[in-house]
Amino acid sequence: MKAARFDYLRPASVDEAVAALAAGEGMAKAMGGGQSLGPMLNLRLAQPAQLVDLRAIAALRDCTSLPDAEVLGAGVTHAAIEDGKVPDPSRGLMPWVARGIAYRAVRNRGTLGGSLAHADPAADWISVMAVLDATCIVAGAAGTRRVAQPDWMLGAFTTALADDEVLAAVSIPRLGPAARWSYYKVNRKTGEFAEAIAAFVADPARGVCRAVIGAVDGPPHVVGDAAALAAALAAGHGEDLAETELRAAGLLPGNYEYQVHAVALRRAALALAEFKEPHP
Ligand SMILES: Cc1cc2nc3c(=O)[nH]c(=O)nc-3n(C[C@H](O)[C@H](O)[C@H](O)COP(=O)(O)OP(=O)(O)OC[C@H]3O[C@@H](n4cnc5c(N)ncnc54)[C@H](O)[C@@H]3O)c2cc1C
Repeated sequence: MKAARFDYLRPASVDEAVAALAAGEGMAKAMGGGQSLGPMLNLRLAQPAQLVDLRAIAALRDCTSLPDAEVLGAGVTHAAIEDGKVPDPSRGLMPWVARGIAYRAVRNRGTLGGSLAHADPAADWISVMAVLDATCIVAGAAGTRRVAQPDWMLGAFTTALADDEVLAAVSIPRLGPAARWSYYKVNRKTGEFAEAIAAFVADPARGVCRAVIGAVDGPPHVVGDAAALAAALAAGHGEDLAETELRAAGLLPGNYEYQVHAVALRRAALALAEFKEPHP
């Protein structure tokens, strides 16, 4: 099948892109790397009247180092993260995750912002940004606004982004020098979307121990204080604590999804306990 007819615009600035989206009155669609949108166009699941291709906007690939965070442009590709071409605030977590997304041709084109805007519950960055407590920076006609992770993904394939807004950048808190992380993704073969995701970040410098259960029906479930959960699971018990969080993630004991997420959570807790310094 071929995409339905659409007009194509390749703006050079975020302001132009925002203006084009606003002019489209809900019938215009931004395109990041096209790796999810392309198939949706071809299957006619998306039929925008106007496609606003963001790839010529150099500002969307800008990265800024702040004292306590790295701000990565939404147009940064998975491959740039994998290859260390952009600053890594996560002590190796993000490059490690990037390597497991799809295959290299997809990673060369697919973007951090596109993945977050698409908000597939099974996608990797949605869970990673939740466990890192990142903030999305959104550009619209009235200027920019910041959306914290808990308010970003509202449901499967639904975010806080309005039709006439562009996700411009993501501000990711920088992990401290003693921070540890783990990320466990269950999928049938490397590079496929996840059946289950569990991740932990423990950062003593900031007093943070957070967990995420992802690849569920809606937004990832965030455990704000996961220290007891991580310790209990790593010690070989903690089923009760795990069950509380898995239920909160919308999973019911006894079914396959619950089992596979329970395994992911335990393995992520074990990996956190066994965390080794990432190789440069
Ligand atoms: C074969 C295959 C395997 C894959 N496997 C995985 C996987 O294992 N894990 C994983 O996480 N992902 C996977 N993906 C998805 C891939 O990571 C995509 O890159 C990603 O989902 C979308 O990013 P994109 O930049 O291509 O966005 P696009 O496809 O261009 O856009 C996706 C959506 O986001 C919107 N959008 C894009 N950028 C912006 C922006 N800056 N502002 C506002 N809206 C925007 C678009 O309008 C569209 O609705 C896979 C894709 C393929 C084709």
